[in-house]
Formats: sequence, C-alpha cells, structure tokens
Amino acid sequence: MKTRLLNLHEVDKAAEIICAGGLVGIPTETVYGLGADGLNPMAVRSIFQAKGRPQDNPLILHIWSKDWLERYCDDIPETAFQLAEEFWPGPLTMILKCKRRSPEELMALKTGPISSLTHFGPRVIPDEVTAGLDTVGMRCPAHPLCRLLIRMVDCPIAAPSGNTSGRPSPTTVQHMLADMDGKIPAILDGGPCNVGVESTIIDLTGAEPQLLRPGGITLEQLQTVLGRVAVDPAVTRQMEKGESPRAPGMKYRHYAPKAPVTAVKGEPERGADYIWNHLSHTRWDGVICFEEFVSLFAGGEGPVLSLGSAADKGEQARRLFDALRAMDDTDVKRIWAQCPDDSGIGLAVSNRLNKAAGFHVVEV
Ligand code: AMP
Ligand code: MG
Repeated sequence: MKTRLLNLHEVDKAAEIICAGGLVGIPTETVYGLGADGLNPMAVRSIFQAKGRPQDNPLILHIWSKDWLERYCDDIPETAFQLAEEFWPGPLTMILKCKRRSPEELMALKTGPISSLTHFGPRVIPDEVTAGLDTVGMRCPAHPLCRLLIRMVDCPIAAPSGNTSGRPSPTTVQHMLADMDGKIPAILDGGPCNVGVESTIIDLTGAEPQLLRPGGITLEQLQTVLGRVAVDPAVTRQMEKGESPRAPGMKYRHYAPKAPVTAVKGEPERGADYIWNHLSHTRWDGVICFEEFVSLFAGGEGPVLSLGSAADKGEQARRLFDALRAMDDTDVKRIWAQCPDDSGIGLAVSNRLNKAAGFHVVEV
C-alpha cells in the first residue's frame, strides 16, 4: 500500500478514508495518532493490527466538544464538565463510564454512515475501543486540523499514538512515516506536535479522581479544579509481579530505544557531573542532556542530543521522543539521559524517560 501525505487543504480526503473504514495518521497537539471511525469495530480492529498493539490495551476516543460526552458516557460526574470547561480542547483524557444500551435502543440506533463499506451495525462504542472494559477514555483535542477532521466525519475518532507498539510516540510526520509507511493509506501533516508527550489521563469513575498517566495538563493544574487527586503508583514506579496499573497501557515497556537507558535525576550540574564521570567517552555511549551541558559532552566521540534548557520542561517534553528515536539511528550501546524534577510537565517527561530506562534511575 502506498501511504499518501495529505496537507492542510486535504482534510476532506482524510475524512473520506475514515468514513470508509480506513486508517489515517492524524496530528494532535500531544503526539500523532493512528485514527479510525471510533464506532466501526472493523476499522478499530485494524488499528491494533497496524500497530501490533496488544488487544487488552484500550483506545481513546477523540470528540468535538464536551457536548458529545452524553452520547457515549453514563453517570458523568460534575467534575468532568468542570475539567472540560477548564482544559478542553486540550491534552486531557477523562476515563468515564461507557453508555449502557438496552437491546431496544440498539435496534433503534441508526446504522453506519452511507459511505461506509465496512460497517452497518448500530453506531455505539464497540468493545474493540474499550478492550471490553465498562469505561472509556474521552478527549477533545486542540489541534486545528484534528478538530476539522472530527467535524467532517461527525463521529468520535478512536486513536492511540501512531507508533509501532513499543516505539516512542511520533511527534512529527517523519516519525509517523518511519513507523507506518506502506501500512496505512494516509497521514495528515499537521506539523510538529507542540506538547510532545501523550495526554494526561484522569480516571473519574472511582471514589476519588486518580491520575493514571501524567501528560500535557499537569497534576498541579488538575488539583486547582479537583482539590485532592490520587496518583496511580504506575506513574512513578515499576509495577511488581501481580500488580496491574489502572491504565492497561502503563504496564507495557514503552518508549524503549534499542540501547539501555540510565536516567539521571537531581540538580542538573550534579547530574551532568555524574554522567561525565560514568561515561565511557567512546562512540558506544550516547548522551541526552540539557542544553547547558551540550558543550561539556560535545567533544567526545558519542552522539550528544539536547533536550532544551534545564529550566524549560515544555521544550524537554517536545524533544524527548525525537531524541530517543534519534539514538536508535546510531549504534550506541548505552544511553545516559538527564531527567527533570517532577513539578509541572516534568512529571510527564520523567515518567516517559523512566519507562524508557525500565525505571533504571540514578538520583544524584
Ligand atoms: P495511547 O493512545 O497510545 O496513549 O494509549 C491510550 C492509553 O489510554 C493507554 O495507556 C490505555 O491503557 C489508556 N486507556 C484507554 N482507555 C482506558 C480506560 N477505559 N481505562 C483506563 N485506561 C484507558
Ligand atoms: Mg501509545
């Protein structure tokens, strides 16, 4: 299959493909997604095939606005609307109860879009999206092309990150092509993603709100609306045997480059010192460091990549996945990476880096 790159004037072509049950690489403000008609079970199944994604890992539905929540969710708490008011459109996914339908309702529901060649069943969230859970992840993205696309198809777009399973999420159209060229009909080019890490996931179905994955909306921002927010242990440490995270995706070894990663956390000067003292100073060791320390490492033989300034965690989030992918294009045998502290979007950067490192973290 030839994969077409679509530009901003060709969103209608992307919409046509999705309405016909096909897959499109879609730009969002967080990372590129692999999108399909979220109410078409066959289309959703093909997402799992293209990514090589485990079947038990549910997808997020991307919707136009909070007004669509009641079409697909039940028992929506008031806090969901408050969060939507504050942070949507934006990088926040809410886990809510999936709508329950009686058999009569299912019979009465309209069938697939007229153009659909693959799906004539009722237009409800299929088990393929939720991996059989009674909850569903809902997000209203902010990227203008993604919003236009949702508007055109007029249905929720199911989309996980657009990477091959196990690779870092794509933050540019080039990353998306590297993983999906020849596997999907089209990718919509929306430029580089300006958040760079996946959405924050908050579970609103329990007794208290729980952060399942840190992302573009920070824990501190959530606390301003919700007060207390519990944090799933999978956010900050490796799960032990028999433990399972609330977001099934958090149990998989994600974001892992080929070479083992050591994440170095703590005061940036001390972290750079630590790396300098432990580095082999040969071409087999790669360094991902804050901009301030690039010149320190640049004289050596191994690759040195900048995450951006130590103080600019937003830039670190934008650059992290590109840096991990770039290291895969070298023949390094070890990667040393500086890691920010957990405040603000630092929690998301640190979480992704720790996962890339298999939680091999050194505190200096
Ligand atoms: P990705 O789009 O690749 O970032 O993957 C979506 C993430 O959302 C995965 O980590 C899923 O496990 C998580 N997710 C999606 N739906 C649910 C749900 N109903 N409950 C908990 N986690 C979910
Ligand atoms: Mg993913």
